[in-house]
Amino acid sequence: MALTCEICGRPIRGQAYKILVAGAVLTVCESCRRYGTPLPSRPPQPHRVMPVRRARPVRRVERGLFGEELRVVDDFNIVVRRARESLGWTQDFLASQVGEKVSVIRRIEAGSLTPSIELARRLEKALGVRLLERVEEEERPKLSTGDFALTLGDVIRVKRRERGRR
Ligand SMILES: [Zn+2]
Repeated sequence: MALTCEICGRPIRGQAYKILVAGAVLTVCESCRRYGTPLPSRPPQPHRVMPVRRARPVRRVERGLFGEELRVVDDFNIVVRRARESLGWTQDFLASQVGEKVSVIRRIEAGSLTPSIELARRLEKALGVRLLERVEEEERPKLSTGDFALTLGDVIRVKRRERGRR
């Protein structure tokens, strides 16, 4: 069965064209194709080179004992290295204290590996430092009851700590 031109109603001989007319896609014959804009056979594919981003350690978030969200502090690598050095510990010794491979400690101190919450806890205990912080809820003025306009994104907003780079 031959296609029918959706503009002139005649059967389409030869090539059928898809054109855009007032937002609608029509299949038309050769002589009617001028009434619309030709439809690209394929949406243009921008050939873009994606910027190569340096892999940043994944920031893990975990719920604490009271349902609060915990995450590893941003400068964990500095905290760990300073604490270890001030204790006079080698990386090997620290590794043995927390039951990890020395390569893990090395990568943590280099900042290329974010410790899991669980490992951060062990490091905290071994080194006597704080490596976990709460993902704080944004301070908000008290709202009258019945005001439910708040979205989750409003309430749970990670408060970035201002901190000078060392
Ligand atoms: Zn036609």
